[in-house]
Amino acid sequence: MSDDTRIYVAVLADYNNGEMHGAWIDCDGKSAEDIQDEVNVLLRTSKHPNVMVDCPDCDIQHPSDLDNLECDTCNGTTKVSSAEEWAIHDHEGFYGLVGESTSFADVAKAAELIAEHGEAYALYTGHCGVDLPDPDDFRDHYSGEWESVEKYAEDYIDNSGMLDSMPENLRNYFDCAAFARDMVLGGDIYKIEMSNGNVAIFSN
Ligand SMILES: [Zn+2]
Repeated sequence: MSDDTRIYVAVLADYNNGEMHGAWIDCDGKSAEDIQDEVNVLLRTSKHPNVMVDCPDCDIQHPSDLDNLECDTCNGTTKVSSAEEWAIHDHEGFYGLVGESTSFADVAKAAELIAEHGEAYALYTGHCGVDLPDPDDFRDHYSGEWESVEKYAEDYIDNSGMLDSMPENLRNYFDCAAFARDMVLGGDIYKIEMSNGNVAIFSN
């Protein structure tokens, strides 16, 4: 899958002062800590800082390092000013799985799952009505992306060998479309339309 996921993080202290201070952050392959690190840079470069945080450039290995600390970033104080609050003001590639205040842990998890499973995972999430359902649960139920339910049913029929006992010249008369409809109506499977016109099939 090549879905690119990214979020636009805005610093609220600046935003509330009528200024835009934020950045697009690519989320592919990133951990929550990676994203937080990038956001921390944004927060520290706010024009409206309201807290003091640890200096990112001080390299203090031992308390005695503090005695002759030379750091141009903080002038040896070990603290720098920073804004505190952020919000996700835009996002791409997440199929709606992230919102304004989604934690970076969930952002990273959603990015990973979308990279692995694509839109189907987001659709499953919507169907379940819970935030980021267990990936194993998803894998247990997901039966793939198909052009149509009929195509899925044809494949299912082939693989199950259910028509093997039928003479070959009669197999073409089998009504795959009706069989597919019954699978859906009977609750064995359900389909969710995808943005590319295909359907994601899930088993119950
Ligand atoms: Zn420093």
